[in-house]
Amino acid sequence: MSVVNYAVNENISVISMAGKPVNALSKAIRMGIVDAMASALDNDNVEAIIITSELALFSAGADISEFSGGDLSPMLPEVLAVIENSTKPVVAAVNGGAFGGGLELALACHYRVTVNHNKVGLPEVHLGILPGAGGTQRLPRLIDASKALQMIVSGAPTSVNTISELFVQIVDPADLLASAVTVAKEAVGKAIPATNLIELNHSNDTDTLFEQTRAQVSAKMRGFFAPNKCIDAVKAAFDLSFEDGLKREGELFMECMKTPQARAQQHFFFSERAAASLPQIAKDTPTRDIQKVAIIGAGTMGGGIAMNFANANIPVVLLELEQANLDKGLALIRKNYENSAKKGKLTQDQVEERMTLLTGTTKYDDLSDVDLVIEAVFEKMSVKKQVFEALDKVCKPGAILASNTSTLDLDEIAASVSRPQDVIGLHFFSPANVMKLLEIVQGAKTADDVIKTSMQLAKRIKKVGVLVGVCFGFVGNRMIEVYGREANRLMLEGATPEQIDKVIFDYGLPMGPFTMGDMAGLDIGYFVRQSRKAFIEHDPSYCTVANELVEAGRVGLKCGKGVYLYEQGSRQPIPDPTVLDIAKRKAAELDIEQRDISDQEILERCIFPLINEGANILLEGIAQRSSDIDVIYVYGYGFPVYRGGPMQYADEIGLEQVLSRMKYYQESLGEYGQHWFTPSTLLVELAEKNKKFAGFKA
Ligand code: NAD
Repeated sequence: MSVVNYAVNENISVISMAGKPVNALSKAIRMGIVDAMASALDNDNVEAIIITSELALFSAGADISEFSGGDLSPMLPEVLAVIENSTKPVVAAVNGGAFGGGLELALACHYRVTVNHNKVGLPEVHLGILPGAGGTQRLPRLIDASKALQMIVSGAPTSVNTISELFVQIVDPADLLASAVTVAKEAVGKAIPATNLIELNHSNDTDTLFEQTRAQVSAKMRGFFAPNKCIDAVKAAFDLSFEDGLKREGELFMECMKTPQARAQQHFFFSERAAASLPQIAKDTPTRDIQKVAIIGAGTMGGGIAMNFANANIPVVLLELEQANLDKGLALIRKNYENSAKKGKLTQDQVEERMTLLTGTTKYDDLSDVDLVIEAVFEKMSVKKQVFEALDKVCKPGAILASNTSTLDLDEIAASVSRPQDVIGLHFFSPANVMKLLEIVQGAKTADDVIKTSMQLAKRIKKVGVLVGVCFGFVGNRMIEVYGREANRLMLEGATPEQIDKVIFDYGLPMGPFTMGDMAGLDIGYFVRQSRKAFIEHDPSYCTVANELVEAGRVGLKCGKGVYLYEQGSRQPIPDPTVLDIAKRKAAELDIEQRDISDQEILERCIFPLINEGANILLEGIAQRSSDIDVIYVYGYGFPVYRGGPMQYADEIGLEQVLSRMKYYQESLGEYGQHWFTPSTLLVELAEKNKKFAGFKA
């Protein structure tokens, strides 16, 4: 089966791409197009050429597996030059989505036709690069330049109907080929349109446009390198000739390609896809049908979780023991939907449709027909066990029994029912209707079909599911505990919460550990520490300031006082000198000398132990791959995608660097360092062999 087919009908040749699954513009397709173009140009009977696809997509763009190198000739820009310089008119019949190089291919053709509501886009910026096959030079010449700039900088898919000037015709799918043939026939004998001859004039308006776009980038894409380079490239379309603009685009493309950010973002692209793969589960494992869901507990998490299902058109029944709590939970869900409607994200009809999918009950007997139950009650083992025992009695055989516990032992919960094979952890992140991550926790006895069903369900409710094993905090919270501990210890040693938060914010997270703690509620961490005394009581410095704050009722944003102070109705943290006084007093009591702490030390001490814990998690097989940890951190904790996740960051800077700094703090921080900075065996082993986390299998 060829990836490019070639046919001649009357005086028109049709080149159609057929590289399954998405016509990624691999070397084979590029060569196929060049060969087919040569045949068409050589054939005196051929007067015009159509390029199209035999698949649902026109083309998804570059074959990014080729980014690692090899003999790639002919490169896409060379192929596009052949098309653009063709002496016979070339029409792109864009039958489906055209993205990245796929859209650039269509842009190099002399005419384009497409189908109604088709989507096209230049998503390269999401891979830390820019369109490198003329997209930044051709698109602003062919459509309104401000629209072109937005498409390139945002990478967002765009409906063809909003950029109709790019197409000669936009038709129904059944009419596409006929439309392309008409356009091709009409072009015969006429001068071929030349994008390269279109001149763009740089004016004050374009200066304003670029300035505004840069401001938008610094607000919305803080820390990313590629978006500004995209702007530079589009600017070159105004400042330089077409030829020089292409050269400049090539230089800027290479500049982006060489950055750690491009490596990180490309790593992340593959990581997200890898997370969905479960090689240990047989391909023919069936899945269970999920048509109705129950949620136990309509609190913060239960309400948010329920919304995900209603949004996916799956009926949900919420159970609370007290009618008042049920009413409160349902009212909050309605309020959330009404707020979305106010912002124009939902119509009032949609609000009502979703609310009719949500029903409430106070009786377990009403759960006899559900296919999945997700428990989201208080984080207390005795309460969880009571709930699971009740579920065991009423749920039908084969119903999946899931817990949203953050820290409790899933296997102990599973042991409280007669069907532990049906028990799984579905760990949502707060706010559960917004955060994309779903940690799917496999217990010792969880059945394969339950895991497979849960992974598919994650997709159905538009989450990214990552399979993890049972341990304290699973992957995400186990690692964040270490990071929070270190931030608290740094405060005790003399750094201010603002300094620590700023270092982390500048590194790229949306907020630092203290702002995050105040937002989540300092009491959450406090209760976790209470339940883990055996592991931490040997260290009296462990989150001691936070403990005192909670004991004094300062639990964070929800009461206007945590590590920071908050004015009524505001989420803006205000530094509080009292907290520094507490830290000073505690430090003196514990004989810890307060000192000036550098930003570098803050960053290393927050991030490296977190990576080290990630290494332990990998070694124990709690995560399947280091890239899964990265997915958890980007989608669950706002870790900057341009760093690829903590494990990719470590691979990028080198594991020996992480190891040597861990050892340094192990030595220099006395007993504290000896205990908490012990390098993971895996980190030591990989660093010594000059290896990376990527590719490690437990
Ligand atoms: P919450 O206190 O807001 O809600 C718990 C709800 O469960 C309350 O409405 C309560 O009335 C109800 N409830 C308690 N016992 C019940 C029972 N026996 N039967 C029925 N309903 C009962 O708590 P939350 O923050 O939503 O947390 C719920 C679970 O989700 C916990 O296990 C928690 O660890 C986990 N979790 C929380 C977060 C978070 O950020 N809040 C994140 C991930 C997971």
